[in-house]
Amino acid sequence: MDWRDLLKNSYRTAADLAGPLGLTAEEEQKMASIIERYPMCVNQYYFSLIDTSDRNGAIMRMAIPDLAESLEGGKADTSGEFDNTVVRGMQHKYRQTALILSTTQCAMYCRHCFRKRMVGMDGEEAAKYLPVMADYVRAHKEINNVLISGGDALLNSNEVLEKYLQYFTAISNLEFIRFGSRIPVVLPQRIYEDEALLELFRKYGAKKSLYIVTQFNHPREITPESIRAVQALQSAGCTVRNQTVLLRGVNDKPETLALLMNELAMYQVLPYYVFQCRPASGVKHQFQVPLPEASRIVEEAKRGMNGQAKSFHFVLSHPTGKIEILGAYGKEMLFKYHQAKHAEDDSRIFSLPVSDGQCWLEEIPPAQA
Ligand code: SF4
Repeated sequence: MDWRDLLKNSYRTAADLAGPLGLTAEEEQKMASIIERYPMCVNQYYFSLIDTSDRNGAIMRMAIPDLAESLEGGKADTSGEFDNTVVRGMQHKYRQTALILSTTQCAMYCRHCFRKRMVGMDGEEAAKYLPVMADYVRAHKEINNVLISGGDALLNSNEVLEKYLQYFTAISNLEFIRFGSRIPVVLPQRIYEDEALLELFRKYGAKKSLYIVTQFNHPREITPESIRAVQALQSAGCTVRNQTVLLRGVNDKPETLALLMNELAMYQVLPYYVFQCRPASGVKHQFQVPLPEASRIVEEAKRGMNGQAKSFHFVLSHPTGKIEILGAYGKEMLFKYHQAKHAEDDSRIFSLPVSDGQCWLEEIPPAQA
């Protein structure tokens, strides 16, 4: 099946999954009620990675709706995205970076997505605001890179992707352009089967450096197909980097995390963040690991990693910035701003008491005057 057919024939309803997963009528009905709120899309390639005999398997948890998604609690917007929006479709939180939510569509709707409030919903194509976005970037010389995200940036058509590349490769203050996409992991065929896409990257990559920021969360996602997609991107001149989300029941074992990072480094997909899972509605109950435990898992995992594999920062993405979780510090935990929204927080280190079950930071001590 070519990638368009894979996408078109994805499982999208509870009825689609009833046979492949052997759902009872009651389970099917419950799943349908979750999908009504949070859409599902699983193509047959990604579904083939699922161990269908294990309802709690890692790949199953990331792809298949779970009743816990309907539990109350959590926030729709955990990192202040609404407040950071400067022109339609574009946010400016960190001085050097503009972030574009280019689409609400994805090849798969990850059950752990922190943008669950919008993915899979109807949304306008942000590309129609490109002239205004480009004006903003040109006028803010401190911006030296744009991150085109979504949804999944590489689910935009090649025509739309070319528009972004045309506009942004022509702006002199931009040093590189990033695309945020999980397509190398969940629908790798869209990359290695589409020579026109790779040609776009070759053409515009000659003008500005291009990065693909992807998200491998489990070693099982590293397959001949996903590696073929990564290598096609690398051969087209793109740098491929990885962000992982630390997820309960997926990669919360040190040996799983170490294996994932070592294998990614082997394929030159350098890991640059491990994210603490956010307290997003429909996500927090089934995926968050408390901070003290999460920090121990990451530190223990690092003992099994080579230097390249552990070149990432373990961070939480807070409305005030990306905060690195440094670890236990006496009876407290130590944190450091890795990227700050406000200059007074740049590189600021602070410690806080954190209870055993605490998964997030709400109150952060202010910077000293
Ligand atoms: S591909 Fe990215 S934006 Fe889309 S559902 Fe998954 S994590 Fe969210």
